[in-house]
Amino acid sequence: MITWGSRAIIWKLSTPTVVDGPIDCAFKTSEARFRYHVVCPHFGCGLLMDFDHIRWPEKTDPVKIRSRSLGFYECQHCHAHWIDADRDLGVRSGLWREESSGLTLQDHLEQHRPIRVGFHVPAWIPPFVSLSEIASKALEYQLSHNLVNRGVITEEKTAG
Ligand SMILES: [Zn+2]
Repeated sequence: MITWGSRAIIWKLSTPTVVDGPIDCAFKTSEARFRYHVVCPHFGCGLLMDFDHIRWPEKTDPVKIRSRSLGFYECQHCHAHWIDADRDLGVRSGLWREESSGLTLQDHLEQHRPIRVGFHVPAWIPPFVSLSEIASKALEYQLSHNLVNRGVITEEKTAG
C-alpha cells in the first residue's frame, strides 16, 4: 500500500520464506525493529516467544497433534506449559519493544523518531493460529526431512 504527500506511508507485508529476500532485507535495514514481548500467564515472566519452545508429545503424529490440540508452548523461564488460551493471555498482556534499545514502541518512536520501522509478527503470536497447528506442521516437516523429533513426553513432565 502506498500513500502520497508529506505523510506518505509504504507498507510491506509478507510471510518471508527466504533469508535475505526482499521482506527480510526490508526488516533488517529498518531503523527500528520491533518484536512482540509477551507475559507468561503462570509466573509473569516477560519473554520473547520463539519457535524452539513450541512442543508436542513424543510418539504422536501431526494429525493427532492438530485434532486433539496437543501442541503447547514451554515458557523458557519457568517451564510452564501454555495452551492456546495461556498464549492468548500472554499476548494480550504483552507489548512491542525495539530490539536494540529495548524501549517500548511509544518510547522508542518518541525518542528516536525513525522513518523506517519493521515489525516481526511470528506465526505463534496471532490468536487465530493455534499452537497445535504450528506443532503439527513442524512435526510434518521433521518427518519429511528425517529429522529428530523434538517433541516432549508431557505425561512424564506433569506427573513428576
Ligand atoms: Zn513463565
